[in-house]
Amino acid sequence: MPVESGADPHPPAEPDAGGVDARHAARLAEQHWNAAGRLTRLPADRDDNFLLLSATGARHVLKVAAAAEDLATLELENAALRHLRAAGPGERVPVPLPAADGRHVVMDPETGRAVRLLTWLPGTPLATARPRDAALLAAAGALVGEVDAGLAGFTHPGADRILAWDLARGAEEVAARLRHVEDPRRRALLEAVLERVAAEVAPAADQLRRSVIHADGNDHNLLVGPARPGTPRTVTGLVDFGDMLRTWVVAGPAVAAAYAALDTPDPLGAAAALVRGYHARHPLREAELAVLDALLRLRLAVSVSMAAERSAAGTAEPYHLVSQAGAWAALERLSAVPGAVAHAAFRYAAGLEPWPAGQRAATAVRQSKPVAVVDTPLADAPAAELGPGSVAAAEAGAALEPAAWHAVIAAPAVAPWGASRRLDAPEVAAQEGPDRISYRTRHLGADLFLPAGTPLRVPLEGVVRAVCTGPRGATLVLAHEVDGAAFHTRWTGLASASVAALREEARMRAGEPLGDVAYHGENGGWPPHVHVQLAATDPAGIPDTAAPDEWPWLAALCPDPAALLGLPPARPAEHDLSARRSALLGPNLSLSYARPLHIVRGRGAYLFDADAQPYLDCVNNVAHVGHEHPRVVAAIRRQAAVLNTNTRYLHPLLVEYAERLTATLPAPLEVVFLTCSGSEANELALRLARAHTGRRDVVVLDGAYHGNTSALVDMSPYKFAGPGGAGRAPWVHVAALPDPYRDPRGMDAFVSDVSRACRRAHAAGAGPAAFFAEPLPGCAGQVVPPAGYLRDAFAAARAAGAVCVADEVQVGFGRVGSHMWAFEADGAVPDIVTLGKPIGNGHPLGAVVCTRQVAASFANGMEYFNTFGGNPVSCAAGLAVLDVLEKEGLQASAAAVGGALLEGLRTLAERHPLIGDVRGRGLYLGVELVRERGTREPAAAEAAHLVERAREHGVLLSTDGPLHNVIKIKPPLVFGAAEADRLMGVLDALLGEDALRR
Ligand code: PMP
Repeated sequence: MPVESGADPHPPAEPDAGGVDARHAARLAEQHWNAAGRLTRLPADRDDNFLLLSATGARHVLKVAAAAEDLATLELENAALRHLRAAGPGERVPVPLPAADGRHVVMDPETGRAVRLLTWLPGTPLATARPRDAALLAAAGALVGEVDAGLAGFTHPGADRILAWDLARGAEEVAARLRHVEDPRRRALLEAVLERVAAEVAPAADQLRRSVIHADGNDHNLLVGPARPGTPRTVTGLVDFGDMLRTWVVAGPAVAAAYAALDTPDPLGAAAALVRGYHARHPLREAELAVLDALLRLRLAVSVSMAAERSAAGTAEPYHLVSQAGAWAALERLSAVPGAVAHAAFRYAAGLEPWPAGQRAATAVRQSKPVAVVDTPLADAPAAELGPGSVAAAEAGAALEPAAWHAVIAAPAVAPWGASRRLDAPEVAAQEGPDRISYRTRHLGADLFLPAGTPLRVPLEGVVRAVCTGPRGATLVLAHEVDGAAFHTRWTGLASASVAALREEARMRAGEPLGDVAYHGENGGWPPHVHVQLAATDPAGIPDTAAPDEWPWLAALCPDPAALLGLPPARPAEHDLSARRSALLGPNLSLSYARPLHIVRGRGAYLFDADAQPYLDCVNNVAHVGHEHPRVVAAIRRQAAVLNTNTRYLHPLLVEYAERLTATLPAPLEVVFLTCSGSEANELALRLARAHTGRRDVVVLDGAYHGNTSALVDMSPYKFAGPGGAGRAPWVHVAALPDPYRDPRGMDAFVSDVSRACRRAHAAGAGPAAFFAEPLPGCAGQVVPPAGYLRDAFAAARAAGAVCVADEVQVGFGRVGSHMWAFEADGAVPDIVTLGKPIGNGHPLGAVVCTRQVAASFANGMEYFNTFGGNPVSCAAGLAVLDVLEKEGLQASAAAVGGALLEGLRTLAERHPLIGDVRGRGLYLGVELVRERGTREPAAAEAAHLVERAREHGVLLSTDGPLHNVIKIKPPLVFGAAEADRLMGVLDALLGEDALRR
């Protein structure tokens, strides 16, 4: 589609009928190309384009050019397309087909318009692809690069065209239309772009290569293939060569990157991804990378200024205005990105050192022998923890009052360059939204924690460039020049009074007073500290911290200031431990996610990785009362410092814990054994049942998992019937999983199946010793059996002489909301209950509680001893969990939040057909995904894909169930309404993505 000057590159979805109708177009196709078929009009701005679908299913595009179209341009296009067919992009560009008389352009005598028939390319526009992630943008950039590389050796007399969209003349075009932009703020945005172009592009024009390029890699011209879960999406074609011309090569990636930057919270990241792909296929030179940012902004400016002109002339269509809103938003977002940052990002994308001046500055500082900034040597200062409460506050496990910081920071502490700061909860909340997936956590400077009022000295001579006050105290910017290297230092966290007398442009000598450390009241409530940042560019607009993905280029711009401060160089943190791990640990110890997480901290419902990026934990039911709950941590710490030994001595905590635990259970469950895990608890339950009945066999539910010991693997269909499993052992009998979604037989059939399994046990030997059941089967797919199932199934098993074991390892301790124990919700009472996971909030603890009769049978003379089970530290942990559950009302919260979540998920199911079933109790929920609701075909690949995508959005989920298609949700019980909203928002957004939309 040739786009005329002033035309918008975003075509309307449904254009007005053009001058040529489908019937006439069909005649043209038949007459000149012998091509018959059904014609459908395609969206186009000026031409009349039709999809021609032949009876054999072949597709072509019939293009009837606008009346005014220059024939030379069409010939240029055709020649280029034929040239490209033989070059890199091959099938991914259209080819013009010769008419019966051999011509590639035919004139329609009736309308006087030029007609062409082109091959049709499969795909949908990149503009509508969701998500438009970095990989897809890089693939798009790669195709544009391939096309331009293919055109590099192509020449044609028609290529030297004058086009308003030509970025080489873009500044003139924008300047001419500036007056149509009424909003002064918007006009200023465009003026700033023009200034950049005048300052950076014009002087470099000689160094910019020229060749024929496609010049319109906009997101409607790039086509992408179908989205398939778990598979990278491909870019299938680049169409519309109507803007092709000979111009600056760098205009190609600039145009494509400008469109990549639309509709994203991170326009620079998106543009850089596109440039990475382009550069890989058509390498850019350093001089070209240097002007890429200015040209990208110029393209947006050309687009909005043309639209403004149309608006002023009253010729704008509504869709013009919609597409322009995105371009204005991108210009505005980019106005907060300093040119040097974009330049460094593009250099990084091209595999170059992002900012060589940064290295020069770092070397100059190292060789310059700076004067010490404070009297106390900082080199041996302890590392400070960066985050809310900071330093020793983190140590204490709780935030300290500002007055206490003051005491703590009496001695210096240092947070080195590159250290990640923790985010506080409001900060996470403020940055969150389905769009925000990366947080600025890595420090681009070193933080010196010093007592408030400590005077600092100027380390290197410099000139004052700026003094201002902000939310973190006063900031002083100094410009330095050492051995020909020019750079700046920025000092934030100074007492305003101490720098009030400084004037811009004043020269400060090394050793002169620089300013004093601000009091916390002036420092945003943080412990007194000064953030010292080196910048090998003007630091205005450069952040204090970087998100992990932007770290490479921001860190190059702002190198380690250690040498300036007399500190040892910061050591880069090790982020990827996978190689070391797999060298030494068992190969079947699995890691979650395609990009494994390196988690270093937990708080509440959040986990934080080595970069301090937060992840909302929706699956860890072990961290029951919240990750690293201060009360539980304090209880463990306190007891560990006093005594930890085994149960062969009297200890009050063991007795107290047994009392507290049994008080939560129904009367017959009164004898306690403490273990170190859920597996140990179930293993012991098996021994108890066998001792009590004198039998060997057990009945379990299909899909169950009860633990990792040999006997328990034999008793877990999830394991023995899965990969590597040895199959069912003769002493194990499997009853049907009472899954109302997948098994329509209903309650009576499920209960009868337990009886049948018991009969098989009788047939095989002495009958069942035990019936093990999870009240809400977990690994089997977060199943909620019909109401009363457990009660009736226990009755059936007892009738067969079995001991009934409720495995509450997953669901116990108030998770189901309505009750402390899930079996209670079903009106069932077991003979033995086994507990684990949440019981110690992560401390290795498990328990078996049984009837006095069962315990008596077990006491047959053989001692039961468990070295670690029931030690006082474990008991302290268990007690603290019970305390927190009670004090924080977490069971009631599980009921309320879980109920709302269940309802919310059901609403999601109305919008997203991929959701086949939503079920659960309290904060124990399952979302079963199906390809089609009628057939209930399991959507396992989709479930895995959703889990991976959620991880990229900072939400941790996982899959379960024998068909691997159930998303499980079982977060710490401190998961509140805000967390539930966030989860729902992310699920809603991801289920709307192309790979998951139905
Ligand atoms: N029972 C159930 C129902 C479980 O889900 C698990 C662990 N997933 C266990 C027992 C075993 O617990 P552990 O891994 O702590 O030994």
